[in-house]
Amino acid sequence: MSSLGRVGAVTDPGRRRRRNEDAYVVEPPLFAVADGMGGAQAGEVASRLAAAALKESGAEAGGEQRIVSLIQEANRRVYDRSNRDPKASGMGTTMTVALVENGQVAFGHVGDSRAYLIRAGSMEQLTEDHSLVAELMRSGKLSPEEAESHPQRSVITRALGTDPDVDVDTFTIAAEAGDLFLLCSDGLTTMVSNQGILDLVEQHRDDMEGALRALVGAANREGGEDNITVVAFEIAAAHLNHDGETREHVLEIADEAHDADTLTEVDEVPVVDTAVISAEEIQAGVRAREREERAVRRRQLRRRIVAWAALLLIVGGIALALYLGFVR
Ligand code: MN
Repeated sequence: MSSLGRVGAVTDPGRRRRRNEDAYVVEPPLFAVADGMGGAQAGEVASRLAAAALKESGAEAGGEQRIVSLIQEANRRVYDRSNRDPKASGMGTTMTVALVENGQVAFGHVGDSRAYLIRAGSMEQLTEDHSLVAELMRSGKLSPEEAESHPQRSVITRALGTDPDVDVDTFTIAAEAGDLFLLCSDGLTTMVSNQGILDLVEQHRDDMEGALRALVGAANREGGEDNITVVAFEIAAAHLNHDGETREHVLEIADEAHDADTLTEVDEVPVVDTAVISAEEIQAGVRAREREERAVRRRQLRRRIVAWAALLLIVGGIALALYLGFVR
């Protein structure tokens, strides 16, 4: 039998953005990250509304079903606000939720935030990104290397708040003592590779706060192009947790201190904002491009045939002229 062990969270605006549009929930045994999007301050509103909805509803038992209803409720709140408030129109947020109960961890997921499991020295990405580049990679149109530098890598295909209902991915993992789960926003995962994340966590295996700091530090060193949020929780053997309490370290790096530290006027380059395009639209776009490519190839082939035919006629004509000349 296993239970919750150490728990931690960190959020940081990164080096390119003034505001932090990420939010997180650490209400053991319920955990979540949300990465908001939308003009002005709408992204912040969306992620905070979604996180608040989760906290308010609370961590009742119920596994995947419970998580789906939590996410649907959060979705309704963001969607309603977006429809009532013109300033918040079009806002949305990602949401990745984990609920630990009875030795299992149930997950619900929408968007391009991620959940990872680190077990016995290796790391597995548990969630599938709902993003343009992931969609293009799944259809074989983009290599992982191309995806890393794709100009539209912040386009997501699903979000909370854009429709009255949201399609939620769910799955459950049987937990083992020593498992470490991470929930993180794309501000970490677009800056630091999966191997990089694993190495940093392993280097700080006995120091969760140190591990979280190291992850934020690495994302910022790589450019810190987006807000960075990581929630971590560990599964402990039940007998090690005899005091019946989870130890929690929530660590926030102050926005002000960070701004003064790293954000200069020169740093304020425009950043690509997250947008939502449905997977259907992306696939339709891919098909249209394929049709276009086929049409171009057909035109090229026709042109080549005409050129060869013309050449044959000329050569044939010359040969005929020479032959007639000889005959005479
Ligand atoms: Mn982000």
